[in-house]
Amino acid sequence: MPSSLSRRLLAALALAGCIPAAQAVVPAGPPAVQVPGVYRQVIGSLHVTALFDGTVALSRRQLLGLDAAQATRLLDHRYVPEDASGLQTAVNAYLIQQGPHLLLVDTGTAGCFGPGLGQVLANLRAAGYDPAQVDAVLLTHAHPDHLCGALDEQGREAYPNATLWLSEADAAYWLDPASEAGAPEVIRPAFALARNAVAPYRADGRLRLFKPGQALPGNATALDSHGHTPGHVSYLFDGGQGERLLVWGDIVHYHAVQFARPDASFEADSDRDAAIASRRTLLAQAADRGWWVAGAHMPFPGLGHVRRQDQAYAWVPGEFSPLPEAP
Ligand SMILES: [Zn+2]
Repeated sequence: MPSSLSRRLLAALALAGCIPAAQAVVPAGPPAVQVPGVYRQVIGSLHVTALFDGTVALSRRQLLGLDAAQATRLLDHRYVPEDASGLQTAVNAYLIQQGPHLLLVDTGTAGCFGPGLGQVLANLRAAGYDPAQVDAVLLTHAHPDHLCGALDEQGREAYPNATLWLSEADAAYWLDPASEAGAPEVIRPAFALARNAVAPYRADGRLRLFKPGQALPGNATALDSHGHTPGHVSYLFDGGQGERLLVWGDIVHYHAVQFARPDASFEADSDRDAAIASRRTLLAQAADRGWWVAGAHMPFPGLGHVRRQDQAYAWVPGEFSPLPEAP
């Protein structure tokens, strides 16, 4: 019987002491859905919104470069949620409002990874933004969990006024049917997904390819962090007042393991040695320079810092914070 309005009225009356509280509680059962996957963090002049896409499962078998007992110890110490399909691994994208620019780094999976994911667009709206306001989409690389969300459910541009930025090296690999033909079987589906996701932007002349170091929207700096893919980049944003944010993409997949063991690899890395070298470089820079870090596969919202620990590193999650008052 009770509509949400009458439930709210009952709750308000109970709070006001007009009716006994016991009558006001009309539970319809436990909540069935999580709250929106949105989190805001101000970093200097950067207004960052983490957007949750969903979770994927990564198996222990795909974690390479350390023995099983050590992997088990590190995973158990972090209480990583796990089911029969693997270890829970978040997929995150980051919206950055900086002066007149609204930039989105990575776009989530849209429909490419099936139900339960593809929430970036809805969460962007839940955060109070309109996808038409996004003027640039910066991709860390061309894998489907970062690129498929450039399209909406109808296969149209999800960000109709945005230019899509992809590194030349990733475009040369993932958009080229010749490299698809020579690729390992397991990654071949990603090529068609990448070509499909960029197609409407390319047709409109709004796909821009770049090399690390070239000027990018929002004064972002693309750092070469190849290894996971041939042209993987990480974006460094300057918030002023000494505050910087590194949106690092896929530098870490197994957060419980790869800070303590940066030499542990993910099976899907296209060049494992290069991926390890990029991880070591960025972990050291982030730790020594005190940068904020946003991680595509860190537990949501994936915003925090890196510190040195023993001979390696540890993750320091950001703390839920009120936003600063507008001046
Ligand atoms: Zn990824």
